[in-house]
Amino acid sequence: MSSAAPIVLVGAGLAAWSTVRELRKLQAEVPVVLITADSGDFYAKPSLSNAFAQKRTPEQLVSTSAAKMAETLNVQLMAHSRVTAVDPQARSVQVAQGEAVHTVAYSALVIATGAQPITVPLQGSAGASAMSVNSLDDFSKLFLALGGHGISAGSSENNSKTVLIMGAGLIGCEFANDLAVGGHRVHVVDPGVRPLAALVPESLGLALQATLAELGVRWHMGTTVQALNNSEAPGPCLTATLANGETVQADLVLSAVGLRADTRLAQAAGLVCERGIVVDAHLQTSAPAIYALGDCAQYASAGGRTLPYVMPIMQAAKALASTLAGTPTPVVFPLMPVAIKTPVLPLVVQPPPPEANGQWVRDDAQTAMTGEVWRFVNAVGAQCGFALSGKATARRLELIKTTGV
Ligand SMILES: Cc1cc2nc3c(=O)[nH]c(=O)nc-3n(C[C@H](O)[C@H](O)[C@H](O)COP(=O)(O)OP(=O)(O)OC[C@H]3O[C@@H](n4cnc5c(N)ncnc54)[C@H](O)[C@@H]3O)c2cc1C
Repeated sequence: MSSAAPIVLVGAGLAAWSTVRELRKLQAEVPVVLITADSGDFYAKPSLSNAFAQKRTPEQLVSTSAAKMAETLNVQLMAHSRVTAVDPQARSVQVAQGEAVHTVAYSALVIATGAQPITVPLQGSAGASAMSVNSLDDFSKLFLALGGHGISAGSSENNSKTVLIMGAGLIGCEFANDLAVGGHRVHVVDPGVRPLAALVPESLGLALQATLAELGVRWHMGTTVQALNNSEAPGPCLTATLANGETVQADLVLSAVGLRADTRLAQAAGLVCERGIVVDAHLQTSAPAIYALGDCAQYASAGGRTLPYVMPIMQAAKALASTLAGTPTPVVFPLMPVAIKTPVLPLVVQPPPPEANGQWVRDDAQTAMTGEVWRFVNAVGAQCGFALSGKATARRLELIKTTGV
């Protein structure tokens, strides 16, 4: 048994568990401690926004229990424990576990604290009641508030609910599709002119809007929710007042206005943070022996961007595991298109780099009734992004090959 300080990971999301999994392929025995504020159960977070259509319960979303993960990966798990401080000089973290406070020393520390939902302050008696879904626990609350499953699309049963979604970005659109298929009435409110305005060409955003409208989704674009009050009228218990003067009655408000990297722990420890915890090509923060990856990180290898998606986490976890196992390995991110899980109109997008100057052009030769192909072409005529819809989403590998980085 080694007496060296363990590798300590903070978090039990995809980033932390994937790093341990990759590390165990390289080093079976090095001591590893994983500290997490939640249960530590392993689940695929993307399934949170398609669980209603698939009639999956929160319990069914857990693919492996925390205890099984810890046993299989030979990890000392501290669940329901919050890291409250990092001491980079002493190389230790402070952990609150119920009433108890522990100090845990590390040889290397991996911060994988994810992101926090952005909240928009709302006026009114129910202003604080908007929910966000960024964890299995959040999803369990949503599931309970909607009365579980038991209704289907087009159902006129009384137990179907009215949900107002704030935000027509990726997560807002996915939930709109999922909850509508799950039998609920859905309103979406967004200040933009169309859904996914920042992500896909205008025509695809409008096509998604029209297709979801056919499913019953009601759109309130170009406006915002200003106030949320408990309703005195019979029916749904909340009244949302929009900036354009409209009111919408709803049983529940789901806020999907975006996520912000959770840098609180790192910032308090004096690590350099901007939009996320700043990490170099080796995923090291500004402090020796402290690394970060996942939704909390801002990657030098991605031009200083955050990359809050699954594929970048898998790449980062592999590279970090090699580094932790003694072979310093920089992370290299290939092109990683994002799939938008709106089954009524599936979309895949490889956004152009933020600095790219150009425009979306539809490839008419490749576009069919069943799906469109769009290329983002920069000022010198090079393709540096693409967007696909419907059946054309199957062509993503082909499009990756023709896209320059
Ligand atoms: C609804 C939804 C759908 C999505 N769909 C897709 C998709 O289709 N494709 C895709 O690529 N990406 C998708 N994403 C994004 C993807 O799921 C995330 O990028 C990824 O799961 C983030 O993993 P993570 O480990 O970085 O963070 P998280 O999963 O958020 O994990 C953070 C962990 O840190 C713990 N923690 C935080 N602070 C502390 C502390 N102080 N002490 C101890 N523990 C702490 C938390 O308890 C948690 O265990 C989706 C996200 C959402 C919300």
